[in-house]
Amino acid sequence: MVANSEYYYVVNHKQRYRLIVDSELWGYMMTLAKLSAPNEILGIGMITKRCTGYNTDFVVDEIFVPRQEVAANYCSFAEGAQNEIMNEILERGDSTEKLCFRWHSHGIGSVFFSAIDEKDIDDCDSPYVVNMVVNAYQDSIARLDILDPVRVRDIPLEILVDVSDENSERAKCTREIGEKCKKIPLGMQKVDPSVWRGVIKMRRDYSDQTKIFDPRSFGYDVHFVGAGGASNSAIMQVATMGAMEYATLHVWDPDVLEPHNMATELSYSNDMIGWRKVDAVVNALRYKFGHNLGIAEAANLALWSYATNNRRPNVVLHPEAVIADTELNGIVVTGVDSMAARKEIWQAIKRESWRVPLLIDLRSAGLTTLIITFDPSDMEAAETYEKSLLYSDEESMRLECGARNVCFISAYFGVEVAHRISLFARDKMAELDKMFIVPRDFE
Ligand SMILES: [Zn+2]
Repeated sequence: MVANSEYYYVVNHKQRYRLIVDSELWGYMMTLAKLSAPNEILGIGMITKRCTGYNTDFVVDEIFVPRQEVAANYCSFAEGAQNEIMNEILERGDSTEKLCFRWHSHGIGSVFFSAIDEKDIDDCDSPYVVNMVVNAYQDSIARLDILDPVRVRDIPLEILVDVSDENSERAKCTREIGEKCKKIPLGMQKVDPSVWRGVIKMRRDYSDQTKIFDPRSFGYDVHFVGAGGASNSAIMQVATMGAMEYATLHVWDPDVLEPHNMATELSYSNDMIGWRKVDAVVNALRYKFGHNLGIAEAANLALWSYATNNRRPNVVLHPEAVIADTELNGIVVTGVDSMAARKEIWQAIKRESWRVPLLIDLRSAGLTTLIITFDPSDMEAAETYEKSLLYSDEESMRLECGARNVCFISAYFGVEVAHRISLFARDKMAELDKMFIVPRDFE
């Protein structure tokens, strides 16, 4: 492919993808977001794509605010409003080809791409679309989606607010900075690091914990089968510990979040009800790790790798259940709620058990819990598990309605999973029983 090809941005080495917004346009959008809050507001705009060196820049040239219907969690074009803008552009002799920018505010809500936003993106008829979500607090995220000729979803865009030469404030600000700001070397700030939030983008520093868990020497992918009450806290703890810095977390769950999940799942919030659980995991992780986290849908993994020049994903999403012929490669943590599901997972592991160095099986019934940890490639342990720990659902602990789960069980599982993975990473599993079974009753 050549440098001026339409698809240049999917192949170039070390590419950075940026959304460039002039400071005056930025101020305009933010003011609209602020004044329409708590309601949402949307706009569309013209984009020029510019490739220079390692940067692929999407520059916002102009913004249009259509007539629209808005509410606190909703905004949509009024009937015919999009055509009015198209006509306005055509009448002045311009092309509507560059109309590839969409933005909307979430009012006073957090910024993320909701299921509705995803659908709107899918429905776009331009070859690519740049999407930005902001809110009244000036939070913002942006992404690039390629729709044609191949579908590449959710390439994160760095947002850059640019001050143009013609900006009326520019001269005044430059003078002010020159007169009043004395530059000091980075690291010499007389500020408590806790207030640096959002000021300097820093890499996470794991030096306080490297003797307990060192991300640099941890090379195992971790598969979380189930992202619900049993494992959502475990996912957050294992991620926070740094397990996805040099390895990949896989999240398997076919379900969507329901209101009753809110009571047990610590890292999900009310506005995620109705989302796929795997997306709720993404949002929780993005909140901690920022928008540059590499997140790939398993079904699109090849395209994602292609689009990001073989970047290793931090998280791979599998919105499906693990069945007997699923391939699992790495540590497996099962947080499923039926023995039938556990048996399927076991079949998947057993087929090539040398690929799975550790299985952590989380079980609970009300306040009674059981955690089983072992190396599936150990024949003796595998036999014990299969013969005496995979009974049928009827024989297993009966789940009483209303006593299925509670958030502190989730938190407890999180601690135990993170602890076991840290033991494993330090080669300390051998000190435990081969078949390490920990029952606990919180009654
Ligand atoms: Zn939205």
